[in-house]
Amino acid sequence: MNLSNKKPFIAGNWKLNKKIPDAVFLATQIKKAVRKERDAEIVIMPPFTALSDVKKVLSHTSILLGAQDTFWEESGAYTGEISPSMIKDTGCDFVIVGHSERRRYFGDTDEKVNKKIKAALSAGLFPIMCIGETLEERENNETMSKVKKQLREGLKGIDKDLFSKVILAYEPIWAIGTGRTASPEQAEDVHGFIREQLTKMVGKDTSSCVIMLYGGSVKPKNTFSLIKEKNINGALVGGASLEASSFVEIINEAKKAYKEKQK
Ligand code: PEP
Repeated sequence: MNLSNKKPFIAGNWKLNKKIPDAVFLATQIKKAVRKERDAEIVIMPPFTALSDVKKVLSHTSILLGAQDTFWEESGAYTGEISPSMIKDTGCDFVIVGHSERRRYFGDTDEKVNKKIKAALSAGLFPIMCIGETLEERENNETMSKVKKQLREGLKGIDKDLFSKVILAYEPIWAIGTGRTASPEQAEDVHGFIREQLTKMVGKDTSSCVIMLYGGSVKPKNTFSLIKEKNINGALVGGASLEASSFVEIINEAKKAYKEKQK
């Protein structure tokens, strides 16, 4: 599969929500609204337990499937863990790595994130790597240094040719699940900085192809102004992806924003 940032990329992270019947219901509702979407890439990310059933709902649609985390080992004595190829086996193409909730509650360090990204790429998954600062770090003017560190350490040792397969999600921690969104200017400032850092790491040709998402209380009403920004290629949506109506509205707003910026 070839990804491109010529159209908006909208991913719904369902987090720890939806048992199998509810997940199938939500996926069916989304499918009714966006069966074959050409002008946006749409990914839904249910919990592990619902992946296989949701995959069946998505057959014959353009909606893609992702998981919310992975372990880095392929197999072995690691009770409770799930490997990238097991995720691939359920029909997923994407996996979130380094979400701030994993970093905060489950000890995901930059080093572990790096191992997960490498393992995901080896299994043929597209990792969605999350980075972002806390409120305290923003107030102390540490946003860029934090993001730079997460970026450099998370992507350490990854072949230049694989960079365009990594999707980046800038998610200021203070905006996740809080109803507080970064302003389009604040988000673009960081996205522009990330693009510059990527250019330093792998050159302009590669960095300009990387898909960069904003995440943090994305709702239908703020999607257009965020995605209209030059370096914002889409959104990683938590809460608002749990209702088909708001998720579909976000997709439509993102398409409008892309049309506007391509004018
Ligand atoms: C997220 O889950 O990555 C997220 C950004 O959540 P929310 O949209 O609810 O802030």
